[in-house]
Amino acid sequence: MKVRFAPSPTGSLHVGNARTALFNWLLAKNQGGKMVFRLEDTDVERSTDESKASIIRDIKWLGLQWDEGPFLQSERLDIYKEHLHKLEAKGAVYKCFCTTEELEAEREENKKKNLPMKYSGKCSRLNKEEIAKNIAEGKEFSYRFKIDREIMEFKDLVRGDMKFDLNLIGDFVIMRPNGYPTYNFSVVIDDALMGVTHIIRGEDILPSTPKQIMLYEAFGYKTPQFGHLSLISGKGGKPLHKRDGATSLSAFKGQGYLPEALFNFLALLGWSPKDDSEIMPKDEIIRRFNLKDVSKSPAQFDYEKLKWMNSQYINKLTPEKLLEFSEEFILQRYPQFKDLEMDKKLLIMKAITPRIDLLTEAADWVDYFYKKFELDDVAKEIEETEDYKIVKEELIKAIKEETDFSIENHKPLIKKIQKASGKKGKALFMSIRVATTGRTHGPDLNYVFAVIGKDELLKRIG
Ligand code: GLU
Repeated sequence: MKVRFAPSPTGSLHVGNARTALFNWLLAKNQGGKMVFRLEDTDVERSTDESKASIIRDIKWLGLQWDEGPFLQSERLDIYKEHLHKLEAKGAVYKCFCTTEELEAEREENKKKNLPMKYSGKCSRLNKEEIAKNIAEGKEFSYRFKIDREIMEFKDLVRGDMKFDLNLIGDFVIMRPNGYPTYNFSVVIDDALMGVTHIIRGEDILPSTPKQIMLYEAFGYKTPQFGHLSLISGKGGKPLHKRDGATSLSAFKGQGYLPEALFNFLALLGWSPKDDSEIMPKDEIIRRFNLKDVSKSPAQFDYEKLKWMNSQYINKLTPEKLLEFSEEFILQRYPQFKDLEMDKKLLIMKAITPRIDLLTEAADWVDYFYKKFELDDVAKEIEETEDYKIVKEELIKAIKEETDFSIENHKPLIKKIQKASGKKGKALFMSIRVATTGRTHGPDLNYVFAVIGKDELLKRIG
């Protein structure tokens, strides 16, 4: 088995394409197959080097590796030309001199008459002299493939039996006047020459598949198996759109998602194991992945679920790993965090692990270790109680007498304040919390005490 991932480098990697890549990769891993990576950059105007680099970076970030490539179609133009000559020699293609304006006019005419909007095949009827004259006049031409049948049937690995009426499709362009192949042409040649056996891709390509099968057959190449995945929808079943939220892999990364969470989430966009498991490690997903369990109906992108999944993956991280992943986000707010001792950094990570859904939220919790918040109304109310005043006095005394602010010594320290003040429960804990952080909620205080230490504590309590 050999699969491939063949994005067009015209922008950043969309989650839909990432899901396609993932399903191909999962299929190959499950079956012990290989994956080819190919950048389809024959659309010269829209393909950019920046996009190529970002797709490679994003696909690696997601944790997918390929076995062959990346191949660039722009470096294979001679191969496509050779193949064109093969078809020309067989009489399977013809030169089309129609201009964009002529084609546009023909389309309008068909539209008016309610006819299928397909090419008339006009240029296939040109005789030798007319062709020679056009060429002598320097007219530009493309090559079209002659459709030689009325029906195309094939079995789709996801959608089952498919049947297309080819009367609705006109002879299609395979080579443009600028010498660049069209997608349908180069994709077939590459998939055939690269030995691809299974093609899993989005349903948006389905209308092109009959054309591609005709080309395989015209070349005498073995047709691979196709599986077309339903598209990913946003709210209300509409196609996923930027207004729904992030849509590119790099945007998810920037918002603080872990690649493992996105991997798990994307795997479940259209595929579900029989028992509806959700959080699954990579090797389990690979082991259980099966095209038979891939759904024909559109998969809805549930941002809330992804966030939840991310929190689950964050919870599994060691403090070291969480630090590695979240430090860049923390440094944006607290550059001085860089110089903090490692043991303190790790304590902060332990404190925030259960609190965050996204890596970007880390800085919001690191706040507690760098400042005392201004009191809000709830905190002010606590500050004005008699209990607070009593606890505060004992808190200051206890801290002044203490030298050990470690996590282990936190409980004994609080016990001491409890005994001395005669307060317990909310009256005790809320007072300590407000006095040291200014807030009524936040990370566990043992971490705050251990990280900021005696002087800062006394300064905060005032
Ligand atoms: N380059 C095409 C795309 O990105 C590939 C489609 C296919 O998988 O055949 O849409």
